[in-house]
Amino acid sequence: MTAYEGSTEDVLKELQTDASVGLTNEEAEKRKAKYGANRLKGKAKKTLIQKFFDQFKDVMILILLLAAAVSLAIAIVEQEARGFFEPLLIVLIVVLNAVMGVAQEGKAERSLEALKSMSAPHARVIRGGQEKVIDAAELVPGDVIKLEAGDYVPADARIIRSSSLKSEESALTGESLPVEKEEGVLEEHNPAIGDRRNMLFSGCSITYGTAVAVVTDTGMQSEIGKIATMLDREEDMETPLQKRLAELGKTLGILALVICAVIFVIGLCDGMPLIEIFMTSVSLAVSAIPEGLPVIVTIVLAIGVEQMAKRKAVVKKLPAVETLGCTSIICSDKTGTLTQNKMTLMQAYVDESGESEAISDKNSEKVKKLLTYGILCCDGKVTVEDGKEVLIGDPTETSIISAGRRNGLFQDELNKTFERVAELPFDSERKCMTSINRINGKLIVITKGAFDIMSEICTSRDMNQAKHATEEMSKEALRVLAVAYKEIDALPEVLSPETVENHLTLLGLVGMIDPPREEVKDAVALCKKSGIRPIMITGDHVVTAGAIAKQLGIFREGDRAITGMELAAMSEEEFDACVEQISVYARVSPEDKIRVVKAWQKKNKVVSMTGDGVNDAPALKAADIGCAMGITGTDVAKGAADMTLMDDNFATIIQAVKQGRGIYNNLRKTIGFLLGTNIGEVLVVFFSMLIWRTAPLASMQLLWINLVTDSLPAIALGMEPIDADVMDKKPRPKEEGIFGEGLGIRIALQGMMFGVLALAGFALGKEITGSVIGGRTLTFQVLAFSQVFQAFNMRSFRRSIFKMGIFSNKRLSQAILISVIMMCIVLFIPPIAYAFGLMLLPAWTYLLGFGLALVPLPIMESEKAIRRRKEKC
Ligand code: ATP
Repeated sequence: MTAYEGSTEDVLKELQTDASVGLTNEEAEKRKAKYGANRLKGKAKKTLIQKFFDQFKDVMILILLLAAAVSLAIAIVEQEARGFFEPLLIVLIVVLNAVMGVAQEGKAERSLEALKSMSAPHARVIRGGQEKVIDAAELVPGDVIKLEAGDYVPADARIIRSSSLKSEESALTGESLPVEKEEGVLEEHNPAIGDRRNMLFSGCSITYGTAVAVVTDTGMQSEIGKIATMLDREEDMETPLQKRLAELGKTLGILALVICAVIFVIGLCDGMPLIEIFMTSVSLAVSAIPEGLPVIVTIVLAIGVEQMAKRKAVVKKLPAVETLGCTSIICSDKTGTLTQNKMTLMQAYVDESGESEAISDKNSEKVKKLLTYGILCCDGKVTVEDGKEVLIGDPTETSIISAGRRNGLFQDELNKTFERVAELPFDSERKCMTSINRINGKLIVITKGAFDIMSEICTSRDMNQAKHATEEMSKEALRVLAVAYKEIDALPEVLSPETVENHLTLLGLVGMIDPPREEVKDAVALCKKSGIRPIMITGDHVVTAGAIAKQLGIFREGDRAITGMELAAMSEEEFDACVEQISVYARVSPEDKIRVVKAWQKKNKVVSMTGDGVNDAPALKAADIGCAMGITGTDVAKGAADMTLMDDNFATIIQAVKQGRGIYNNLRKTIGFLLGTNIGEVLVVFFSMLIWRTAPLASMQLLWINLVTDSLPAIALGMEPIDADVMDKKPRPKEEGIFGEGLGIRIALQGMMFGVLALAGFALGKEITGSVIGGRTLTFQVLAFSQVFQAFNMRSFRRSIFKMGIFSNKRLSQAILISVIMMCIVLFIPPIAYAFGLMLLPAWTYLLGFGLALVPLPIMESEKAIRRRKEKC
């Protein structure tokens, strides 16, 4: 039997499960062993060996190895022992380089995996009669799952029970409009997937309503698994910056190749041995082309992202980190993000008497009736554990249930006595919800929701007094809900807001307080200091929203607070003209959020937008940085967002922006370091060939310097603690490239400085020892150590290294220590030095080399001092 055929009972029987108890944990384990994880198969992973050989895909490396092989062959033919060393060492260095490459890529991969698993989907399942949230991969056929609006369907499932259910199945059918779904038996025989209305399909989402369903197929057995037998779910993780760097790498590569060609020609004209010139040019090309740069950037980004996740901001895609640093507008929801979402009912107003009353444990009978009706129309729950209330579900609702408890009105008892027969779930577009209960034998419709919406569907009497009461409560920053009712004879044939939510009688109002989060005030202040504008966008009442925005400092003197209705009345031009004055948008619907995003984007601002509901997804996508709520957010919102706030907290966005700025700065340091030192190498080889017609460094020496001084310090620089003053500046313009603020020129100048110093080293070494080997030894020392010092210099573009504490970046200190030890081994242990084509120099010569390598330090310190002074002026 196929899952959509037969009755629900037949399907449950066939799957040997129970609709209310679900599977036992043991049975689920057994089935997991049988059916495997509920996951779509991705691309097969590369083995370590494959990854290792991938490192040799670079043409330059292959040419280098070829050259080494030829030179080894010549050495064998000529039977010259010394000739063996160089080619063998080159092979060794290249292999070591490949090993380091594999290790680095592994690191990047692990971080990216961790990133993916953080946003892995979950499912609400009933196992052994208990409801729990599990990893969606753990689902097996026969599991009973619960779904609500905003959830992704985690596996193919047959609907057992549903209420106003709609699912969006475009992933499977291409149809983008949500389709209605409900339990029952299909009349049609063998219907197309889109017509299987009693089924929910993996990979689709619930856009409306609720459902309980039984899993019928998981993983590759699901419909989505069948159409994509081998789905390549790897998303393009390459960031715009990486793409630009890859291009830059290519340009630099071509430049290096041209220089190599010139060197080659010079060498040839001067009668240098062919193999030697060839080797020098190719090793220069291998060293100078920054092919490792994109991987290093990935590592730095991925490690940064892991750190952000520890601070509760889970970034889904690496490019978001770059954009985060440019954020200039942060549009934030109010409830739960700016406020604590810990609602406490404070006041009640009863329409009958026109009186307000503070909530206590001895409220009047009229208020008790209001609370009773309110509680009946709630989906949230309050249970008591160890004498303490445990709140489950929407805090707006639990605050009403709690207030009822204080007055001896218990939800369970009320629900039993006045059974609920139908419901229209809450949605933030309607801003209200309805339940239909049997009260004293009569069918009573109870609707609760925002006062302004409710006042339009209440026809009982003049609403002015209630409106006044609403405004008074709102001014105190209270959220006000109205409760209304009517009696009906029978359930309407079609249960919808239009048929039910009308002609209601207002029963009263309840006002609840939701205090601002303590950390938000400081976060707002930090926002403003760093040139970021915070904006509140809320479904709440304009007066309530304005009151809280003022308390938090979001609403400034002269700003405007408008409602969704006022926004709708504005033309695009009108809105564009005043968008900068508006700090609070109240009673907005999710669609309004897109308008706000677009209006700011037109002003060339980088906009971040928060959202939690299924309808927020388009706005989250439209924003430059969509932030979903980790706790209250739906799967759909999380899926559409770039970043998830695990604690739903506004302050976390600001922290993430700070981290984003810091990571970007660190990337600039890494890139500056790598390119500057590479330029130095190219220049020294080029000019030395021009001036002395000899290579200042043998190929293995060049390769060694790069192996030892390039990637480890570069990655460590990328992990530099974030500069304390990173939030003192205005946001970086989106279009500013990585080499902005003069970084490009500085890299070029620094490269020249290294080139000149190394050349000086070569000239002095040659002069002192009277040999090219002596010259090379000093060049090697100067180049290697100046790169080491440069790593320290690059820790900050403006702060003095002595102020920062030279060794305060532990990772960098460790990386440098490793580099220095490896350099010293080659420089000072005679047999190794000889094998590397170096010699031992008089002690004072080393001191001289050391002195030359140190020259960049005072130069860069002075440049930083001048920069600081300029900034002050
Ligand atoms: P924000 O948009 O700032 O996150 P919000 O909670 O005000 O916050 P919605 O959840 O869309 O936004 O709620 C909009 C309005 O709907 C609320 O101001 C309230 O009046 C009403 N409301 C909220 N929750 C319920 C509920 N459970 N039942 C009935 N009405 C509700």
